[in-house]
Amino acid sequence: MSRRTLLGAAAGVAAGAGILAATGSAHAEPVTARTPDFARGRPVVFRNATVVTGDPRIGTLPDSDVLVSGQTVRAVGRNLSAPHNAAVIDGRGSILIPGMVDTHRHMWQTVIRGLGAEWTIANYFSWIYQQWANFWRPEDLYASNLLSMAEAINAGVTTSLDWSQDLKNYEYAEAAAQGLIDSGGRARLAYGYSFAPPHEWVTSGDVARLQRERFSSTNQLVTLQLAWDGTGLPEEPGFPERPAWEFAREHDLRVTLHSGVRNWKEDHQLQMLRDNGFLLPTNTYVHCGTMSDSSYRMIAESGGNVSIAAESELNAGQGYPPTGRIHGHHIPISLSSDTQVWWSADMFAAMRATLNADRGIDHLRAHAEDKTVVNNNLRTEDVFRFATQGGADALGLGGRLGSITPGKRADLVLVRADTPSMVPLINPVHQLVFHAQRGEVDTVMVDGRVMKHGGRLLGDGFARARRLAEASANHLRERIGERQWADAQNPGPYQVD
Ligand SMILES: [Zn+2]
Repeated sequence: MSRRTLLGAAAGVAAGAGILAATGSAHAEPVTARTPDFARGRPVVFRNATVVTGDPRIGTLPDSDVLVSGQTVRAVGRNLSAPHNAAVIDGRGSILIPGMVDTHRHMWQTVIRGLGAEWTIANYFSWIYQQWANFWRPEDLYASNLLSMAEAINAGVTTSLDWSQDLKNYEYAEAAAQGLIDSGGRARLAYGYSFAPPHEWVTSGDVARLQRERFSSTNQLVTLQLAWDGTGLPEEPGFPERPAWEFAREHDLRVTLHSGVRNWKEDHQLQMLRDNGFLLPTNTYVHCGTMSDSSYRMIAESGGNVSIAAESELNAGQGYPPTGRIHGHHIPISLSSDTQVWWSADMFAAMRATLNADRGIDHLRAHAEDKTVVNNNLRTEDVFRFATQGGADALGLGGRLGSITPGKRADLVLVRADTPSMVPLINPVHQLVFHAQRGEVDTVMVDGRVMKHGGRLLGDGFARARRLAEASANHLRERIGERQWADAQNPGPYQVD
């Protein structure tokens, strides 16, 4: 029997609370570390964890339980009663948190993970956009999405938005969607094609067909929205993308946009949207580092939200992560990892990078005025909320996800706090943000289903994802050619233009 997976009967004794009704239940089957018994439909109870609910009405509960049945959190509290056949997960020495949410991840690029660690945004456009994007086949999108989702689930990221901007036609879109669906995780396919203006591809029939055939319900694990950057430039008259926005409204699809990126789509994009009536509360604006306060005010007044990808913004040069300023405008914030061509998809790292960047610039600004920051502005609680409830809200799923609240879907992550990095446990949120890492993620549940336990992904999904992704990487390497493959990993010396 594993340390963490106990039968209901055994756990009743272990918990010392006499909670569980039946011992030696006919439903109880032997559970071992190798074969945890998380049969579909079997209730699960997490026992004696430090529960960081993320729900301001409940707060953080020491030594507490969370009962899950079906897809739903049924109860949160001490010494909960549980059905006789419930599987018990021992939460002692661990912190239970809501599943994290990544609101902007270009999953199709995960198959060339790490290749561009030295890049700037200029390198990225030069290699991926201008030269390589055509080399991806539908099966490469499928493999990359499957791998990216395995990475997400393993890391405690239970919901990811796939900002999928290489969907050349229906076959590509279907492959990207299938990769997300087959992962078993929760995802949002943000349908995009960055190589043509949105009004050309959004209304071509492919998006409508995909919605009809694969996303007819909004009550499924993988759902649909749209992703584009807009085409309007200050020198161009009119609002050519209007048909795309009208389509989004008619089809009830949210839109995510790269926004406020240096030398490109700064304040003009927001002004165009406002002037044409599409500054919608359902819009997500990604980056937003080079906007003026008037644009932030427009977003705030519209009810829209912002996705901060601090590792991306700091490394690639889209503009400085504007978290503190955005927060000051009371704009809802979520966090994202952008692309694994450079960075990890580690939301613990994203929380840290966000705080590091924001506190760093605050100190520099104060020093420039010969002053000292006495108390920090952005707090660990803020970035933890951005990584959980903020992400759920950004996808329009905040009523169902984002906190450990009875009635919400059971997307839960058990983080070990008995490791060399985490003991002694003094302040769970402080330590989740600055000390935890993916290695501490012990158990991951998505929609009531245990996907990872005892530090290992369950099932053979990752083995398959790895095999397919390595084959795709080989295909892309062949198409790119050995010379470019090597050159792209070693861009020229430091240069400012
Ligand atoms: Zn992006």
